[in-house]
Amino acid sequence: MKSHGHKTDCYFCPVEFNEQNLSMFMQVLKERAIDLVGVSLVTDDYPSAVMVTNRIREALGIPVIWGGAHANVRPEECLLYADMICRGEGEEALLELAHSMSTHERTDTSIKNIWFKTDQGIIRNELRSLEEDLDKYPFPDFDLDSQYVMDDKGFERVNEGHFNGEYSIMASRGCPYSCCYCYNSYRRKHYKGKGKYLRTRGIESVIQELIQARQKFAGLSKINFWDDSFVTRSIEDFEIFQKLYASKVGLPFFALIEPMAFDYRKIKLLRDCGLNKLQVGIQSGSERVNREVYNRPVSNKKIIEVANLINGLGIAVIYDFIFNNPYEKPDDIIKTIELVMQFPKPFYLQGYNLIFYPGTEITERALADGFIAENNSVDASSTIQGAINSPTAMKTGTVVSNRFYSICYDSREKEYLGLVFSLLCFKHIPKSLIRFFMKSGSRLKTSLLKAIIESYEALSQLKSAIYSK
Ligand code: SF4
Repeated sequence: MKSHGHKTDCYFCPVEFNEQNLSMFMQVLKERAIDLVGVSLVTDDYPSAVMVTNRIREALGIPVIWGGAHANVRPEECLLYADMICRGEGEEALLELAHSMSTHERTDTSIKNIWFKTDQGIIRNELRSLEEDLDKYPFPDFDLDSQYVMDDKGFERVNEGHFNGEYSIMASRGCPYSCCYCYNSYRRKHYKGKGKYLRTRGIESVIQELIQARQKFAGLSKINFWDDSFVTRSIEDFEIFQKLYASKVGLPFFALIEPMAFDYRKIKLLRDCGLNKLQVGIQSGSERVNREVYNRPVSNKKIIEVANLINGLGIAVIYDFIFNNPYEKPDDIIKTIELVMQFPKPFYLQGYNLIFYPGTEITERALADGFIAENNSVDASSTIQGAINSPTAMKTGTVVSNRFYSICYDSREKEYLGLVFSLLCFKHIPKSLIRFFMKSGSRLKTSLLKAIIESYEALSQLKSAIYSK
């Protein structure tokens, strides 16, 4: 947009809107003479997007366009609030829109990827083909003078301190997999016949962006690659990456990978140039659940092999798991516990409650099977933020997302095993103790288990408080 002569600002809104920061926001938009607002949202942001859009329209009367995952999956609903939505990728579409608004009296309403709300109804323009050459797009805007971040009281200019020494980047778009709970499970279908879904940036472009980031932000100490599956490119690419990254960037970095895509040679090349932390999605230790429910074709044999190889390379690792899935039986949780007991230490565990995002395959399936029901209220109480997503939080029960859908099942029969799983988060718990608790759950055992977990949690909190001093 800037390179085509448009003035742009970025506003980051990481906290809840309230009367004070909303009023300040309207003031800033007015002072900066903004004439088009784009709101990027995922499903969790929907109530905030509704609130800020209503306020912009009331206070300033300027057009608002929404984009992002939620606008793609529930376009009509989003158009109840927004004037336009952008489906799919927005670079070309937004530029054409800005050009049309700034040069014509009447905005062109035939721009591909954009749906317009008009007095005559919704104009649904078709999706353009996916851009294969991602390197044609510029790097993120490093000019912090036009970027603002919101807190409870208002806005301040973005400064390097907001980065915490970390720089986030994506070197690809799309994913080779289609896990049933993930946005890729529907996005791939939207783009059928529109070109290659998984596209990678050139290594030189990625390195160049990181060089510029380092030059601009002197305090950077870590790079995060947030690609859906970082290792899905050729070994030849990684050989080039290793040489260039080591000589021109040289900072420790983090990446996400899937056990299905794990390739020892690639991970070793990455470790040798700075990869020091991996986040690996395991999701379940039940092969049935991974294959038949989550659409993740991976065996436990492969997962254990991956865990041993990562450990052998000395890379820190976080394993992710999903809880409170209505298609998972107690026996599946036992398999998950048994799997984790075979992982070499050290490791970190992260547990997430299954969230039914609109449009995903698991949501459609659970709706059809009666495990969830539609709930269209914007004000529907949400437990997405309320539920503490960690295995140790399983002790507090089985809170699941209630936004957009009413939950018609409970996971009480799996609560005790969730508690047993929590024991795996603590380094020094012997396997024999975990096996003792796994056998069955009496009231006495449950109380004992809770007491052990609480003591360990208190100890870990004490340790981190001491280390942070
Ligand atoms: S591998 Fe990860 S990003 Fe890819 S479809 Fe599965 S959950 Fe989504």
